[in-house]
Amino acid sequence: NKQVILRDYVTGFPKESDLIFNETTVDLKVPAGSKTVVVKNLYLSCDPYMRIRMGKPDPGTAALAQAFNPGEPISGYAVSRVIDSGHPDYTKGDLIWGLAGWEEYSVITPNPSHFKIQHTDVPLSYYTGLLGMPGMTAYAGFYEVCTPKKGETVFVSAASGAVGQLVGQFAKIMGCYVVGSAGSKEKVDLLKNKFGFDEAFNYKEEQDLNAALKRYFPEGIDIYFENVGGKMLDAVLLQMKPHGRIAVCGMISQYNFEDQEGVHNLTTIIYKRVRIQGFVVTDYFDKYYKFLDFVLPYIREGKITYVEDVVEGLENGPSALIGLFHGKNVGKQLIVVARE
Ligand code: NDP
Repeated sequence: NKQVILRDYVTGFPKESDLIFNETTVDLKVPAGSKTVVVKNLYLSCDPYMRIRMGKPDPGTAALAQAFNPGEPISGYAVSRVIDSGHPDYTKGDLIWGLAGWEEYSVITPNPSHFKIQHTDVPLSYYTGLLGMPGMTAYAGFYEVCTPKKGETVFVSAASGAVGQLVGQFAKIMGCYVVGSAGSKEKVDLLKNKFGFDEAFNYKEEQDLNAALKRYFPEGIDIYFENVGGKMLDAVLLQMKPHGRIAVCGMISQYNFEDQEGVHNLTTIIYKRVRIQGFVVTDYFDKYYKFLDFVLPYIREGKITYVEDVVEGLENGPSALIGLFHGKNVGKQLIVVARE
């Protein structure tokens, strides 16, 4: 059983050498009386929050993400096939998505964050992204936290990623004007030509983020879907409309810093009566089947599309995960461990 192990707690940007490989044996039969499930992992999801789990245990973030243990396999969202089950709700052959180890086979204890996959007329890998945790994040964050209305102006950062590309498409379905930022020309082209954003720009090429935002939002921003934090948040604050909303989904620009960058334009929150709300997707997992009912028809009709960045082989997992922090992924980053 090949595994990806955390060598030691990470400070600063993660490096490939922070993750090492191990080979163990695994019993593919569940012991009598055990309620565990043995799964074969097919697809692994690379998610930015995993960096937080690579750092030293921190009481501030523990409720969101428990630190990984050095010397043990890291874990994350996965699509897996049940090999053997002692759990009454699972039988051999079932496909599930939820947390599993970064390894070929995992022994899991199913919990409410494991979902049985019932719809297989769509790509199975979508359950790491569009139909999995990032899809639920976009859905809950946009519809529940942003409380959008038709005609409102929406800005999304890290807009071509696993979450952002969906937020933009949901905003268009809602009848909003939506602009996205991303870190390369290729990503900007995707935003405009594939995901239907009204406008998009490469934030790395803008000298002045305020000027860029003013260009696309002359009347201001009603909704900001925050994925990056730092300088972008500072610039957005100045461009918010009165009673605007900011859904704080993530702040990837800060995850590798011990001391986070300061945000300066905070008084604008008062004058503009801005509502800023952070959220964590797992709080919304009870709405997962409602989300599926909503999103599956759009996928089947081709009205929602999804771009994945697929890497083959567990051995290429560490570099794919680390690539997120350098913008290497184009779309949802996932790893194929096995196809069946
Ligand atoms: P992505 O697929 O968007 O991948 C990460 C992207 O972030 C990179 O491709 C890069 O895109 C961008 N990025 C990396 N470093 C920086 C930086 N320093 N400044 C600006 N952009 C940067 O990731 P996800 O869609 O999976 O996640 C997006 C955000 O949502 C993350 O912050 C994540 O932590 C958060 N999240 C929060 C959840 C919650 O429950 N609250 C659940 C899931 C995700 P580019 O080339 O455009 O710079």
